[in-house]
Amino acid sequence: MNKTPTTKETQLLHAGRTSEAHFGAVNTPVYHASTMLYPSLAAFRGKAPQRFGYARGGTPTSQSLEEAICVLENAAEAVLLPSGVAAVNLCFMHVCQAGDHVLIVDTAYLPTHSFCEHVLKKFDIEIEYYAPRQSLEAVEAKIKPNTKLIFAESPGSLTFELQDIPALAKLAKKHDVFLAVDNTFSAGHLFKPLDHGADFSIQSGTKYISGHADCLFGLVATNEKHANQLRRTHKLFGQSIGPDDAFLALRGLRSLATRLHHHETSGNEIAHWINSLPFISKVLHLGLESHPDHELWKRDFSGTNGLFGFIMPSIDDEKLANMLDHMEILGMGFSFGGYESLLIPAEPKRMVSPWTEPGQLMRLHVGLESVEDIKHDLARGFERAGFTV
Ligand SMILES: *Cc1c(COP(=O)(O)O)cnc(C)c1O
Repeated sequence: MNKTPTTKETQLLHAGRTSEAHFGAVNTPVYHASTMLYPSLAAFRGKAPQRFGYARGGTPTSQSLEEAICVLENAAEAVLLPSGVAAVNLCFMHVCQAGDHVLIVDTAYLPTHSFCEHVLKKFDIEIEYYAPRQSLEAVEAKIKPNTKLIFAESPGSLTFELQDIPALAKLAKKHDVFLAVDNTFSAGHLFKPLDHGADFSIQSGTKYISGHADCLFGLVATNEKHANQLRRTHKLFGQSIGPDDAFLALRGLRSLATRLHHHETSGNEIAHWINSLPFISKVLHLGLESHPDHELWKRDFSGTNGLFGFIMPSIDDEKLANMLDHMEILGMGFSFGGYESLLIPAEPKRMVSPWTEPGQLMRLHVGLESVEDIKHDLARGFERAGFTV
C-alpha cells in the first residue's frame, strides 16, 4: 500500500503530526511554554541539535501548524501571526523600505488600505491603487522604477472581483517586482497562489482554517527564495501565535476540506435560490455564470465556499432593520468561515474605483446549518422587509 497520502484532502489530515513525540497522541498537544530548557552547554551554544529554545521562536504546537500550512499552501516556509491583519502588515514590512512604491488592488480588505495610508506612508513608502478589473496593460503602466510590490486580494473583499494571479505573477517577474496575494477566501484549499508564481500568500486563518469563530490567527506562506529572510523578519517583529490558538487552528485545519465542501454545496444552492427572487437585482457569486469573472474562477480555482453577496435595489433602513433584527439562524457579525451563517449589510469603500451599484449590498456567509433552515430564515427576513417570497 502506498503510505504517502496523495490527495490534498488526505494530506491535510496528516501534515505536521508528530504523534511519536507525544506519547502517541494523535493531535499535537498545547505547549504552554516560554522557556524551553537546554540539555547541555553544547546545545545551549548551538553546537548540538536543539529544535526549540526560547518559545517566541516556536513550540511543538506552532511547528505542527506551520508544517501543515506549508502543505496547504504548497509553500517552503510559513510564519504564523496573532491575526490576519498582523500577517498582511508583516508582509509589507518585510518587503518594503523607504522610497519604494507599492501597487495595491482597490478591493483589498479595508484595514489593509488603512495600514498603507496610516503606517506605510509615514515611512516614506509610496502607495498607489489599481481598480480590480483594470487591464493588465493598465496595471503595467503604473509600474515605476521604484515599484517593489504588487499586493492583490482575490476575490476582493465584499465585492468578489477576481484577479488574474498567473498573469500578475508574470508581470511582476518581468519587472522584477514581488507579488503578494491575500488568499483568505480560498483558505489555501481552493487556490494556491505560490503555484502560480506569487511570492507570498497571506491568509487570515481566523476564517475558514480555524472554522469555528473562536480564534484569531494569520499566516504568510512563501517559496524557497524568500524562506529564510521571511523567517528572520517574523522573529524580529516578535508577533508569535499563542499555543491555544495554534491548537485550535490545527484542529480546524483537519476538517477544512470537508467543511469547505459543505459550505460550497449549501452556498451554491442558496445563491441560485436568491438569484431567482424577483426583488434581488444581482448575486455576486463566483459559481454563477452571470459573475463577470466566472470563467477565470473556473480556470484557477478548484471550487468556491459559502461566501457571496447580493443586492436588494429597493429597501430602506427601516425595512432592513425589520429584516436583520429578527433573524433566528443568521447572525449579524463580521467575519466568515465559521460553522455559523452570517448576514451583514456591506458598504464597500474604495480609493480610486468607487462602488456605484444602486441598492443595498448584503454579504452572506452560508454556514453548516441545513440549507432548508437557512432558506426559511432568509425567506421570513425578506418578508419582514416587505417582499413576497
Ligand atoms: C478577515 C480578513 C483579514 C484580517 O484577518 P484578521 O484575522 O481578522 O485580522 C484580512 N484579509 C481578509 C481578506 C479578511 O477577510
